[in-house]
Amino acid sequence: ARTFWVGGNWKMNGSVAAIKDLTAQFNAGSVPSDVEVVIGAPYVYVPLLADSLRKDWAVAGENCYVKASGAFTGEISPEMLKDVGAKWVILGHSERRSILKESDEFIAEKVVKAIEAGLKVALCVGELLEEREAGVTQAVVNRQLDAVVKAVKEEDWANIVIAYEPVWAIGTGKVATPDQAQEVHAAIREYLKSAVSAKVAEETRIAYGGSVNAKNCKDAAQKPDVDGFLVGGASLKPEFLDIVNATN
Ligand code: 13P
Repeated sequence: ARTFWVGGNWKMNGSVAAIKDLTAQFNAGSVPSDVEVVIGAPYVYVPLLADSLRKDWAVAGENCYVKASGAFTGEISPEMLKDVGAKWVILGHSERRSILKESDEFIAEKVVKAIEAGLKVALCVGELLEEREAGVTQAVVNRQLDAVVKAVKEEDWANIVIAYEPVWAIGTGKVATPDQAQEVHAAIREYLKSAVSAKVAEETRIAYGGSVNAKNCKDAAQKPDVDGFLVGGASLKPEFLDIVNATN
């Protein structure tokens, strides 16, 4: 069985004081031992979070560059993230695809370099509202995954969690229904089976993201192909503990 995976994505939020306060609450919470938990923080707070967060949870960067070091002003390497205590990196988030104009190929290159540097990757994919309405959801998600399938080796998939995040559900309060999530997750698994292998399709965790909260997580967690969540807004609150406990 796939280990349930719950990620928090703080995005561009947080402060030293807020992180100390929130980690104290997370650290005091009771959580199941069979759920893997990862929190993504802005680069500058990764060392503080790695220091203050409970050691059964891991820390993620929210992006990285494709080189280990060099003349790339303002960029951060996966090696640096690892050096300051991150075990994961979130890549391909819709905000980076749309606001920062990252391409499928650039994201795939980041996935390769992050895994080479020893990080695990939360790879975000998902369609815009107009793409869903045009009936091309799966084509869009498959195109985003294709770039990564072409770039990584089969064994690298053990280091990747896919986060399906429909863009219309991110930060909008409009959560996908459990059936909508299940439908896309099952199709992603079918895609992995034909594009990579039956083993990778069976073993890869597919998490859902987009307006997940303590109330709506329980039903979605029961769906056979929903292997976890990637949580934005609610990961900045103690409510995140309830989402970590979604399968209880
Ligand atoms: P919200 O949970 O705030 O909708 O954000 C989801 C997300 O983008 C997680 O990466």
